[in-house]
Amino acid sequence: MKFDILGVKVDNATMDEAVAAVTKLMESGGRHIVVTPNAEIVLMCQQDDELKAAMDKASFTAADGVGVLAAAKKLGTPLKQKVAGCDLGFNLLFEAAKRECGVFLLGSKPGVAEKAAKNLCEKVPGLIISGVHDGYFSPEQDGEIIKLINDSGARVLWVCLGAPKQEKWMAKNRDALNVSVMLGLGGSLDVYAGNVKRAPEFMIKLKAEWLYRLIKEPWRFSRMIKIPRIMSLAKKEAKRRKNNAGA
Ligand code: UDP
Repeated sequence: MKFDILGVKVDNATMDEAVAAVTKLMESGGRHIVVTPNAEIVLMCQQDDELKAAMDKASFTAADGVGVLAAAKKLGTPLKQKVAGCDLGFNLLFEAAKRECGVFLLGSKPGVAEKAAKNLCEKVPGLIISGVHDGYFSPEQDGEIIKLINDSGARVLWVCLGAPKQEKWMAKNRDALNVSVMLGLGGSLDVYAGNVKRAPEFMIKLKAEWLYRLIKEPWRFSRMIKIPRIMSLAKKEAKRRKNNAGA
């Protein structure tokens, strides 16, 4: 079931349900896009029609972030759980490994995907990394990158180019890519390469991962003030829906 969060259709799923749904997409043989919007991406969609259209092409949309969850609650459609893209991508690797589906890692600075691949192979028994490439290439090189991915035989593709670049790139190139499922996963390769640490477990449990990231990467402050902004839009939208229902 999908809920409309300020125009973005977000799947209402627990992490386990999300992994099961994306595994099904992986097995389906189609070409599927998975997006993992946080508050910043939902806000970008209000102004960026190309991004909005790209998000609409997704087969599965995970609610990545407390801002999206809080907005959903305000709208009267609370979501079951936060489904962080980073964790969804990781959990899917176990399902890919079990089915011998290769995974291609695209994105981040040169060397990061290689490092992430090595670490992920240590964590996920039987994982097949079909190939890696950094995320700093021009649109003219798209054809070359797509060929590299297709020739690798990968069924799963991590696209870690940051938002909104990764969502637009997936929407534009989906039909040329012979992968079953491509996931837009932001800075996940940096996390698995060990370049960016995740918050300690207790902070994740307290829903304070944002605070940890703010301390570690203070430049994120401008992004975090997006949470009050999404809440104010959600409040307005909730009011509008209520008035419409009453009319
Ligand atoms: N990136 C990239 N190509 C670009 C711009 C960014 O591969 O042209 C990468 C960047 O190196 C980083 C990721 O995209 O690894 C974006 O990470 P960020 O933490 O900003 O994303 P978030 O997880 O917050 O969405």
